[in-house]
Formats: sequence, structure tokens, C-alpha cells
Amino acid sequence: MDNNHKMWSDLGMNLELHDQLCEVLPQAFGDVFLSQENRPESMDYYNMVVADIHGIRPAELIEHQKKGGKVFGTFCIYVPDEIIFAADAIATGLCGGSQFWVPGGEKVLPTNTCPLIKASVGARLDRTCPFFRIADMYIGETTCDGKKKAWEILGEDVPMHVMDLPQMKRAKDIKAWAEEIETLKDTVEEFTGNKVTAKKLGESIKLINNKRKALERLYSYRKNENLPISGADVLMISQIAFYDDPARFTQMTNKLCDELEQRVKDGVSVVPAGTKRIMLTGTPLAIPNWKLHHIIETSGAAVVCEEMCTGTRYFENQVDETKDTLKEQMQALAERYMQINCACFTPNEGRIDDILRLAKEYKADGIIDVNLKFCNLYDTEGFLVERALKDAGIPVLGIETDYTDSDAQQLRTRISAFVEMLNN
Ligand code: SF4
Ligand code: SF4
Repeated sequence: MDNNHKMWSDLGMNLELHDQLCEVLPQAFGDVFLSQENRPESMDYYNMVVADIHGIRPAELIEHQKKGGKVFGTFCIYVPDEIIFAADAIATGLCGGSQFWVPGGEKVLPTNTCPLIKASVGARLDRTCPFFRIADMYIGETTCDGKKKAWEILGEDVPMHVMDLPQMKRAKDIKAWAEEIETLKDTVEEFTGNKVTAKKLGESIKLINNKRKALERLYSYRKNENLPISGADVLMISQIAFYDDPARFTQMTNKLCDELEQRVKDGVSVVPAGTKRIMLTGTPLAIPNWKLHHIIETSGAAVVCEEMCTGTRYFENQVDETKDTLKEQMQALAERYMQINCACFTPNEGRIDDILRLAKEYKADGIIDVNLKFCNLYDTEGFLVERALKDAGIPVLGIETDYTDSDAQQLRTRISAFVEMLNN
């Protein structure tokens, strides 16, 4: 038995089922990423991380646990990782992005639940993902109804703390979120046995801000006429950001950015001049959901920005680093996190403003509004988003999809027609 299989067996995973996933992933990865031409050399790091996705990072998390540390699994970008790292614990993203996990979720959830929730529940209950096995405690949130109920089911299998996210953005809601962050701090302190001090929290605020700055820098190179990196590669990096060691991720991403900076100076582009620039907006694309980027970028267009949780929503806006009491830091965290514009808020004009601003910054020729099947929130908000884009004269294509490949051909036909329309 190799080291990885030994680790997975010790984690109580279903090895037979998990081996089936391990068989298909390398093929999918090769088709989407390794087939691209002229990739930056610094992508080697991210290739390695994804190639051994269930090996390298899980082993590090287990090492941390052996030294008495705790690991917390999260599902939403409103949950402040800063609190977790300040208690000498590790936060890791747990959102499921593969169809492989969906049938496991459907055993306990209604079929008309979004694939992200079904995959996340299936990955835990089917015991086919080491990250879901390793996390000592899950942190859920009251964002959408599907998630709220899923936490009750997952909570029967693993310790679960749920944060009550307000769904409006008045001053009293921001105050309520600061209180919820305080409650998270108490829970994390009790679970880890470690105190979150203002000094520790100040350090972790910087740590996570630095990660955000590196991602912001990475995205900034996509604003150039010459695109030094593909959209698929940036998506993969954004997905890795959710579970990699934050300090190492920041370092490696800045290294990649140095290379991209040089590429921009040298006029290097991964696509021919005049390639139409597409921005995506909508529901998150959790790892390993690479379907849309692959279809778009093999249909003669380039993805230049994602107004998504796996995109700009994750890194825009920093937490104020100048606060030095816990109370002020909690407020600063609440203020930063409440600037994220998710469709679970009402009203949510901020998201439309973001989309219009980003379309301009990234010089998008057209926008694809992506909805994961059965996500009512983003589907409904899509009406307002698409109307605002039409009013602004920006071409938009609305699509609904899931994790299966069954609609790939139909999507390719629709996306090719959209790109052709942009070209004419
Ligand atoms: S779409 Fe909304 S609920 Fe889902 S991860 Fe993003 S912020 Fe959280
Ligand atoms: S995509 Fe929509 S339904 Fe799915 S978890 Fe996110 S907000 Fe909920």
C-alpha cells in the first residue's frame, strides 16, 4: 500500500470508491490544463498541488493535527479564516465541485438541490474526500436554504458550528455580523484550547490580506490587451487558494506574478490578438469544476475575469490592519466581509455595480451569467443582472448548468454562437 492509500485508509475513507475518482481526475486535468500552449513556467507549482490534490495538503493537515492542532472546514467566503488561523488552527475550503460526489448527496437531499451542496454532502457521507474526513469541525452559515438544511444533516456526522449571516447590509446587520464573528472566536477558542489575542489576530489579518493582495495582483495582469495567462489557469489558482497554506500560496502566486509582469513587458499573450474577452458572473466554480472555462477557451474566446466567489468576491477589499483591540478587529472583519455581494442579500445592487465596474476594468467584450442548476438565488437575481447589462449595452448570455458533462455539447454550441456574435 503506497503512502497516500495508507493515509486514506487511516482516515476511514472508502478506498474502492475513491480509487474511481483518482482514475478520472488526471485525465480531466490533462485535457483542460496540460493541453494549453505557452503556459507560464510558474504554473508548475499549481500543477503539482492539483496532481496530488488528495495527497500533499491532506498530509500537511494531518501533521498539524499530530502536533495537537485543529483543522476547520468552511463552505463560504463570508466565514473569516482570520479567526481560525489566529487560534493556531488551519482553515480549509470544503466546497465540492465534482459530479462524482453528487449521487452520495442525493441519497439524503432532494434532487432539486444545487450540485455544490449535494457534492459537499456526498463527499462527506460517501467518505471519498480526505479534506472532508480530516476537518475536526465544520463551519456552516445561514446563506441559502439548501445549505441551512444540509448543515443539520452533516451535523449528525461531524461537529458543526453555524454562523448566522444577516441578509441585509444596514449598520445593525454589520454589528450583528461582528457579534457572530465574536461567537465564532469563542467556539474556536474552546475547541482548540488556544486563546485568540489581538496580537495573534493582527498577524492573521495580515496573513490573509497578503493572500488577497497576491490574487488581486494576479488578476490585474488579465486587464492587459495581451493576456499573459489563461482563464482556466487563474481559475485553478483561485480554487487552490481555498485550501493551500496561505503564506506559501501568497509566495508562489507573487512568484508567478513576477513572471506575468515580465510577459506583459515582452508582449507575450496566450491567445491571438483580437480574441474576444469574456467575463463570467454568477455561482461559484468549486474545484474541480473547470467545464465552462475549458469550453469557452476552446471556442475561440478568453476568460478575463470571474465575478464569483472563486474570483473577485474572494479577494476584493482588505481588512483594516490598523486596529489593535479585539473589539475593533471584529468590527473591521465584519465591515470587510459584509462588502462581499452575494445573491443571498437583499437588496443587492452592489453586485450589479461590481459587474459593471469589472466589465470595464477587464475590457470584457461580453458576459456569461452562470447559474448552477437549482440555485434559486442567483437564478432570480440573473433577471436584474442581465437587464442591467443590456441597459449598459454589454452583450450577455445566461446559462444554467450542473456538474455533469451531459450538456457540454449544447453549451459549446451556445457559447460558440455567442462568441461568433461578438466577432461580427
Ligand atoms: S455564493 Fe454566496 S453563499 Fe455561496 S460561497 Fe459565495 S458568498 Fe457564500
Ligand atoms: S450556488 Fe446557490 S444554492 Fe448552491 S450553495 Fe451557493 S447560494 Fe446555495
